[in-house]
Amino acid sequence: MKLSQLFAKTKKETPKETEVISHRYLTRADFIEQSFSGVYRFLPLGFRVLKKIEKIIREEMLNLGAQEMYLPVLQNKNLWLETDRWQTIDPPLFKLKDRHKKEIALGSTHEEEITDIVRHRVKSWQDLPLYLFQIQDKFRNEMRASGGLLRTREFLMKDLYSFHNSEKDLINFYNKVKKSYFRIFKRCGLKAVCVEASPGTIGGKLSHEFMLISEAGEDKILICKRCGFGANIEKVGKIKKCPKCRSNLEKKNCIEVGHIFNLGIKYSKIMGARYLDKNGKSKPIIMGCYGIGLSRLMAAVVEINHDKKGIIWSKEISPFDIHLIEIGGGQENKIKNETEKLYKNLGREGIEVLYDDRDKSAGEKFVDADLMGIPIRIVISEKTLEKNCVEVKKRDQEKVRLVKIDQISNYKF
Ligand SMILES: [Zn+2]
Repeated sequence: MKLSQLFAKTKKETPKETEVISHRYLTRADFIEQSFSGVYRFLPLGFRVLKKIEKIIREEMLNLGAQEMYLPVLQNKNLWLETDRWQTIDPPLFKLKDRHKKEIALGSTHEEEITDIVRHRVKSWQDLPLYLFQIQDKFRNEMRASGGLLRTREFLMKDLYSFHNSEKDLINFYNKVKKSYFRIFKRCGLKAVCVEASPGTIGGKLSHEFMLISEAGEDKILICKRCGFGANIEKVGKIKKCPKCRSNLEKKNCIEVGHIFNLGIKYSKIMGARYLDKNGKSKPIIMGCYGIGLSRLMAAVVEINHDKKGIIWSKEISPFDIHLIEIGGGQENKIKNETEKLYKNLGREGIEVLYDDRDKSAGEKFVDADLMGIPIRIVISEKTLEKNCVEVKKRDQEKVRLVKIDQISNYKF
């Protein structure tokens, strides 16, 4: 993609009402734009990142043996009445009326929907275990939407649900999902910690949250450096000593990027999702559910990985692989021709290149490159061409290397 063609206008000024760094940088680099409070537009650069995060999550879910589905945003009130969550879920549901004055909910989660689907299909122990997931828009009627993509009223989320015929089988799968979540966050360039959490109005027996330690986060956790114990303050209260090893606990602000729940039989019991065991006895299905907010994850990456100049994407979720800059490339001169040639060659090899072909100063181009945060920057100028070279710089390092143009496709970035 040539930058002159890209639908993105970077801004020098920090926009108003941006409280956190991710909101500031993502807006200034034109990845996202607020439409109104808690509702965001994803522009081409932001959408590319979102799609890459989605790809990682989908791959990891399929690796767990889960099957992808797509459930409706508009949800039947009767299902929510069955579980008594129509009035009680927190944050509350967005509700609307159709032209017959029938009430409908905009889904904030899908336990009712999925349990309804499964109760009509699973008959015996032989139908279990079963793992189903979707990646879809969700809605929350937040009192106060702030912090850019960290707390929104409409957001993209992956939700996975699992169905088992024994607690042991559920715990086994629950632990596999934990490992899978660590892989997802690692591939996004993050180091998450997993802590005990309060299940809230999703409910169930126990839950764990995946947290990124960050001042921008609204959650507070207590962690033990000695044994690795961690818990959300909501869950354990303001205790001073580790319940496992009695060491002093440390309090940290953090951003929640994933939450997994051992639901037990909470939904299957109320909604009658049952199976026949090996002895022909009817039992409620044991369930788990596992969420990751993709749009929040994108903001969380920026909260963790940035510097004074802008964003620093990790390789797998960067909107492009390489930011290619020509300096002094006028109409049809050697610099322009060489850069065009390199751009085409890299593209042929499947490398996604953002080529800054604009008629702007080197300074302006570097500022935009640093703000957008693509991990590799390649510069071609008269000076580098004298040595048949390009200049390669990683976004997270100061060091600049000269690499021969004809070696660049073999170069290990
Ligand atoms: Zn401890």
